[in-house]
Amino acid sequence: PAVIEKQEIKLRIHSHSSLSEDEKSALLQRPILDLKEISSRVTPIVQAVRERGDDALVELTAKFDNVKLTSTVLKAPFPQHLIDEVKPAVKAAIDVAFANIAAFHKAQVSDSTLSVETMPGVVCSRFSRPIDRVGLYVPGGTAILPSTTLMLGVPAMVAGCKEIVVASPPRKDGTPVPEVVYVADKIGAGTIVLAGGAQAVAAMAYGTKSVPKVDKIVGPGNQYVTAAKMALQNDTQAMIAIDMPAGPSELLVIADNDSNPAYVVSDLLSQAEHGVDSQVILVAIAPTSEFLAAIQHELATQGEALPRRDIVRVSISKSYILTVESRDAALEFSNKYAPEHLILHIEQPESTIPQIQNAGSIFVGPWSPESCGDYASGTNHTLPTYGYARMYSGVNTDTFLKHITSQTLTMEGLDLLGDTVTTLAEIEGLEAHRNAVAIRLKDIRAKKI
Ligand code: NAD
Repeated sequence: PAVIEKQEIKLRIHSHSSLSEDEKSALLQRPILDLKEISSRVTPIVQAVRERGDDALVELTAKFDNVKLTSTVLKAPFPQHLIDEVKPAVKAAIDVAFANIAAFHKAQVSDSTLSVETMPGVVCSRFSRPIDRVGLYVPGGTAILPSTTLMLGVPAMVAGCKEIVVASPPRKDGTPVPEVVYVADKIGAGTIVLAGGAQAVAAMAYGTKSVPKVDKIVGPGNQYVTAAKMALQNDTQAMIAIDMPAGPSELLVIADNDSNPAYVVSDLLSQAEHGVDSQVILVAIAPTSEFLAAIQHELATQGEALPRRDIVRVSISKSYILTVESRDAALEFSNKYAPEHLILHIEQPESTIPQIQNAGSIFVGPWSPESCGDYASGTNHTLPTYGYARMYSGVNTDTFLKHITSQTLTMEGLDLLGDTVTTLAEIEGLEAHRNAVAIRLKDIRAKKI
């Protein structure tokens, strides 16, 4: 048999100062996300669920997941025997992560109603209300992901959402992953949908006999999940919101010659093992050739020792080291790239934070590996990828809230503001608008009131 030569786990190196402008912008590009082809596969799935509800969910789960469902959902209280399958040490770890994530996300809720008197007698307020019904998509496919259930579920719980629906692909025997059930129970979910992919998203968007309809669907997933979320947010029958578009996961590390190459590489690899489409970038500030050699050496040794080394080989082959002259140049590049995760392996990392404009989440200093934010420090791991960190935030408590504004005018307030409004209404040709104010001003100014 032909021997397939395994590619060495090694990063290609670019020097910023010797790149043309076109080459620099090429480095900022992500792999092209072509949802068109996927959309044509997702449309009939979504349609089937809309038209045939639970029956379609059962058929599609048999087709795509090879699982014959006897029931499409579990309703709370969830079966104790499934929760009992979770090992005590795992429960304890989930409990610590839960507490940290809850503490950080509770602090994001502002209790005080915002209230401003914009003019004497004109008071404007803003207050938040939870989104009633939310759907959390927890990817299943190949992994067990209690962490994603925590990252989506804890903020929904903290925000006070009334109905929380968790959807995740079932195990081969048609039951849900016990760790996901344990978390679903802790966050107060009412329903677990035993399905994945576009069909699970569609079931939550439209509702079926067994699956409650939700108002917003959040969570990461593969391209079928993303394409279904994107299509359904434009569907007036479903009328749902989504959290954000999702692309492959990514990490940018800024390091200098004083960084520990073993730590830097362990972080790069923790991201590279996610999937073949993950991208990792090391921006090295004025590196010596010894430092770069140490990085490549660590990559080969640590990388080859990983069980997921074949995934790492591919993702590292699509990744690179960029050498820059200065810290400012490193930060400028990072802001342009807008990474999902940004790790600062540099001296006095805090001092650079004011310069950081675009990033999903930042890991500050050598003792803050990304893994901590992925699981348990308290920050959220559902973050904007693909450069969307320029305009999107990661999932947070506000993801599950909406704001209502209100205004109260006194008679004196209306007397003061009235002419401004009638002038603007008149110029826009909206006579009824003008009149609604004028009719009152007339009485106020005639001292009829
Ligand atoms: P998934 O749950 O997203 O998708 C699995 C589902 O896809 C299956 O249930 C199946 O119904 C459907 N499917 C599979 N093949 C199909 C086909 N040919 N046609 C139609 N539907 C099909 O799980 P996954 O596939 O393992 O993907 C998980 C994704 O989530 C990865 O991209 C991973 O990077 C991402 N992820 C992100 C985070 C994060 O927080 N950023 C965390 C975990 C996972």
